[in-house]
Amino acid sequence: MSHSEPGPVIVTGGSRGIGAATVMALAGAGRPVVFSYASNADAAQALTRRVQAAGGTAIAVQGDVADDVAVTALFETCKDAFGAPTGVFANAGITGPSSRMEDLAPADLRRVLDVNVTGTVLTVQAAARLMSTRHGGAGGAIVLMSSRAAALGGGNEWIHYAASKGAINSMTIGLAKELGADGIRVNAVAPGLIDTDIHATAGLVDRLAAKTGDVPLGRIGRADEVASAVTWLLSDAASYVSGAVLDISAGR
Ligand code: NAP
Repeated sequence: MSHSEPGPVIVTGGSRGIGAATVMALAGAGRPVVFSYASNADAAQALTRRVQAAGGTAIAVQGDVADDVAVTALFETCKDAFGAPTGVFANAGITGPSSRMEDLAPADLRRVLDVNVTGTVLTVQAAARLMSTRHGGAGGAIVLMSSRAAALGGGNEWIHYAASKGAINSMTIGLAKELGADGIRVNAVAPGLIDTDIHATAGLVDRLAAKTGDVPLGRIGRADEVASAVTWLLSDAASYVSGAVLDISAGR
């Protein structure tokens, strides 16, 4: 990579769950972090305090990842505070309510695609404009948030969500080819069953307990177990890794 120092990182949807664990891990690795959140300002402020207490630096920015103006503002905040990012984690995502496909409300489908697919595209666009050597940037690395659902299909739970993550896998492959010559590595992580609020938010409060038996390692994953992989992919230690979709699912 053309950069040698660990530079600033942007994390979308960084206030809770996997995003928050990744903000902590990146800040712990000495990287200034700017993260976005949708609406939970208390969680975002609590996280910035946790980062500061641990000796790191993080700035929270409210903004819907599906809104191009908000995504531009997120990147401008990083540029103004720390300089152009050298790493971006396009993590923000939602499942929408769980349902069979024939019962899926069009508005729920559109919102999932808008946040997960359009939001990722908008994030990558803003990243490429600031990081690409084609545009005078220093290069860097992007990690997209996929899911094991992309390969498993989401049947009887959320096929629309699985399909939105299938789009992430395609983009990972294409973007690695398109941005590689511009000094940017692009990879994705595809977590399995991770203990966050996302399952209960979808109305599936018992989902993790019910599915633990499907996991070869016999347990549900923690957000920090995804964060450590993302931190590595965003670091120069992964300097020859691009176009990979890394399953973090304990064999499931
Ligand atoms: P989570 O605990 O529900 O946290 C979601 C985070 O994203 C929150 O910080 C939330 O902000 C933010 N967010 C939601 N919608 C947003 C939007 N439109 N714009 C900006 N930020 C937004 O979810 P999670 O489990 O950590 O999931 C994070 C990502 O991992 C998602 O893309 C998900 O699909 C993926 N994933 C999760 C699992 C799992 O088992 N947990 C498995 C595979 C993939 P607020 O706090 O303001 O709501």
